[in-house]
Amino acid sequence: MKVTKFGGSSLASAEQLTKVLNIIKEDTERRFVVVSAPGKRETSDTKVTDALIQYYEHYINKQDTSADKSWIIQRYQDIIEELNLDNAILTTISEAIEQLETLPIEDNPYLYDSFLAAGEDNNAKLVAAFFQKNQLNATYLHPKKAGLMVSKEPGNARLLPTSYDLIKKLRQGNQIYIIPGFFGVTEDDHICTFSRGGSDITGSIIAAGVEADLYENFTDVDGIFAAHPGIVHEPHSISELTYKEMRELAYAGFTVLHDEALIPAYRAKIPLVIKNTNNPSHPGTKISLEHSRSQTPVVGIAGDDKFVSINISKYLMNREIGFGRKVLQILEELNIRWEHIPTGIDDMSIILREKELSGIKEAKIVSFLKNELDVDYLEIERDLSIIMVVGENMKNHVGIMSTATKALAENHINIEMISQGSSEVSILFVIKSQEEKEAIRVLYQSFFTN
Ligand code: ASP
Repeated sequence: MKVTKFGGSSLASAEQLTKVLNIIKEDTERRFVVVSAPGKRETSDTKVTDALIQYYEHYINKQDTSADKSWIIQRYQDIIEELNLDNAILTTISEAIEQLETLPIEDNPYLYDSFLAAGEDNNAKLVAAFFQKNQLNATYLHPKKAGLMVSKEPGNARLLPTSYDLIKKLRQGNQIYIIPGFFGVTEDDHICTFSRGGSDITGSIIAAGVEADLYENFTDVDGIFAAHPGIVHEPHSISELTYKEMRELAYAGFTVLHDEALIPAYRAKIPLVIKNTNNPSHPGTKISLEHSRSQTPVVGIAGDDKFVSINISKYLMNREIGFGRKVLQILEELNIRWEHIPTGIDDMSIILREKELSGIKEAKIVSFLKNELDVDYLEIERDLSIIMVVGENMKNHVGIMSTATKALAENHINIEMISQGSSEVSILFVIKSQEEKEAIRVLYQSFFTN
């Protein structure tokens, strides 16, 4: 039994929906279909979810919403007409879009979520109607009926663990369920969405709940590439990754899948495959707990910018009990997340994402370190990038670090810091952002093309 999720670009037009139908028809194990809202047809297009945000803004500010409503309805109508679907489905969808502006504005923390969720909810109804017309035994299933119960955190819902028992009941029967992604229902019956891009999370939850054999996530690329295709010319697609490797790559900017989407499938030990709706015969990238065969030590090279380093030095720092705790405590008090802490005997660097450090927070940290901790040297270094060389199998290989540093050195790229966790899933280099792309290119070359 498979759970198959389609992203917005796979559902953006009648042509795309026809590909989706063929994919489902091809394999009778595809019993659960999770859908996003219609996405962009071309780069300059607007996603239905973004159009719903504008509709919401105009509604709460008591502005004219007619253009928003007609654009959104027209978007569905174009697809419905091209697919020759019954008019009834258009009526259902138009009414649902119109009715959003009858929801109460005051004391309604779920209003925004209700607007956003309408994109996937109506698309699931449309897809179910299309499948039925094409002789598939398909049923639209609202997340409430599926048992997808979530916490009361608008825009950032968490699954309530009791949901799994409810979802498991869907295993019975033999119809194909079409489930809208991105949202669940609270115990007091409100629509509550996950964070943006959250349909991936729904797919993963359903896969864990029904104990699927596979969670298929269909998008518009041939899986995960070993480096960003905007940086490296035609990088290869990775055939197999472990969950740990995927997490490391995603951390450093590989955003094919929503970060939180890995967790439910990972915990339930369900393999996930990322596939291309426009090229379904390509095997894509499979993500599972372990590699099924021996593989090269490095699977991918990722990079991300907008990092800042707080560099601190103090003579005899290593002998000063509690120094590290005090530094971390000030960060905690200021509600700052830190990412990495490379150290030397008398040095400590705290690497953060730039967005964590507002001007006020920075001033407070500087004053605390100088006045309370009496540091000898303090510098806030900006415009830093991290480069991650990722591969679980690195721990069984000697010389990975030297290959990487040699490639960087030969290209005159200065390494500011290095960090490697004990699990050896990745090696992290901190470099100047202006050298990020070049670093990725030369590392890709030395690990994959030489
Ligand atoms: N439609 C939602 C968004 O654009 C959720 C999703 O597509 O996964 O964020």
